[in-house]
Amino acid sequence: MTTQTWNVMNKHRIAAITEVKLKHCPAPTYKPPADVRSTMTCPKCGGRLAFTVSSQTGISTGRCNSVGCVTWSAQ
Ligand SMILES: [Zn+2]
Repeated sequence: MTTQTWNVMNKHRIAAITEVKLKHCPAPTYKPPADVRSTMTCPKCGGRLAFTVSSQTGISTGRCNSVGCVTWSAQ
């Protein structure tokens, strides 16, 4: 994997995490009131990206349906 590819992947991953956090982790607690298990449109491929957010920790994990696309854990 080239550095350029990594940067592009990272950019989309950050965009996805930011969207999840803005929607589900508002101030002042930065945690959702209940565990979130949902899907969003993948910012990279436009496919379905499934994610979860813990109400205990506010930590999210997500993965796009497309192989080798956006994925993250414990962010
Ligand atoms: Zn994707």
